[in-house]
Amino acid sequence: MRIIILGPPGTGKGTQSRMLSEQFNIPHVSSGDILRENVAKKTDIGKKADVFMKTGQLVPDNIVVKMMTEILGKGKYKHFILDGFPRTINQAHELEHLTPIDLVINLISSEKMIMERLSGRRVCSSCKAVFHIKNMPPKKDGVCNNCNGKLIQRDDDKPETIKNRLRIYEILSDPLIFFYSQKGLLRDIDGDQPIPKIFGDVISVLKKEKLV
Ligand code: AMP
Repeated sequence: MRIIILGPPGTGKGTQSRMLSEQFNIPHVSSGDILRENVAKKTDIGKKADVFMKTGQLVPDNIVVKMMTEILGKGKYKHFILDGFPRTINQAHELEHLTPIDLVINLISSEKMIMERLSGRRVCSSCKAVFHIKNMPPKKDGVCNNCNGKLIQRDDDKPETIKNRLRIYEILSDPLIFFYSQKGLLRDIDGDQPIPKIFGDVISVLKKEKLV
């Protein structure tokens, strides 16, 4: 199964990808996670990407495409759930050279829901587990359930930056959605539903397409 999860920031792409990855034992490849790792390790890519990420802008295509080509281009992954890539039509064209894609799940969410999800999101600074102050609170305030690490708010989850990320998504996603719908690969799912219900819909689509 080689699938892409598309959707605006905060629609639950990461959560759904992680759930799918666990259930079907398929690698979850998140461009955002890989970029954050690069920033944390202060690699060349990380140093270049940092300023764009902090301000909610997209990292330039040439940097992201080179990074993803190294990850996907070596034929290491026969199956994957791609989360956060491609984000632009140019990236989608580049991805065509790297691997075939079986299906694109398009999560659709309202701005109200997105603001609520992202502004309440907290991430473990150590193991990267994700919590939400209302929907999935940790047992102890500010502390990770899994490893006792400190929970932090991502720089780009601050309200002003969220708005910026959403505007950018709106502008860039149209051609991307058109591209995959023309190919007959796009399946829309209501991302405003509770997380388990979204997951149920994702599984139904995958079953219908005989991918699981
Ligand atoms: P995410 O974790 O997917 O929300 O991504 C966090 C940030 O990483 C984004 O706001 C961008 O700055 C950057 N990023 C992740 N994936 C891409 C991509 N495919 N193209 C450009 N920038 C990206």
